[in-house]
Amino acid sequence: MVMDPQCTFCQIVAGEEPAEIVLQDEHVTGFMDINPVTPGHTLVIPNRHSTGLRSLPEEDASILLVAAQRLAKALLQSELRCEAVNLFMADGTSAGQTVFHTHLHVIPRFRGDGSGIRLHSHGGVRKSQPLSEHAAAIRSALEKLHD
Ligand code: 5GP
Ligand code: ZN
Repeated sequence: MVMDPQCTFCQIVAGEEPAEIVLQDEHVTGFMDINPVTPGHTLVIPNRHSTGLRSLPEEDASILLVAAQRLAKALLQSELRCEAVNLFMADGTSAGQTVFHTHLHVIPRFRGDGSGIRLHSHGGVRKSQPLSEHAAAIRSALEKLHD
């Protein structure tokens, strides 16, 4: 198992750091976020260390999403107030990532919970956005990806 001894989330997987674990198998661990956005806010992490989405092995990417799906179903059926769920990942400091062990937030939502993930457009009239140029840049980068 790839472990970074300096990493708090690796320490949680190893049982060296306390956490309210709700789900764990040989690949993945789910535990309560210490600073929840809403009650039931859970983090899902691959057990083996990777710093974020760009270095996450594809196998762990699928495992993470399947575990998040299970947690979301459980939250929706739990006694906690949960009418809907947000999945959220920050990949990189500018996106708000503060812990550099890949993690997916599973956040229970209900009408009037006062929380929310709001994405604001950086402005400009929609039609004036050079979407074709953006798409060309992405297509070109996709072609260069070797996996
Ligand atoms: P990020 O901003 O990197 O996406 O989110 C990191 C999350 O990890 C935050 O929501 C924060 O509350 C949570 N967190 C940070 N340190 C710990 C910890 O030691 N234990 C637990 N359970 N959650 C943590
Ligand atoms: Zn780690």
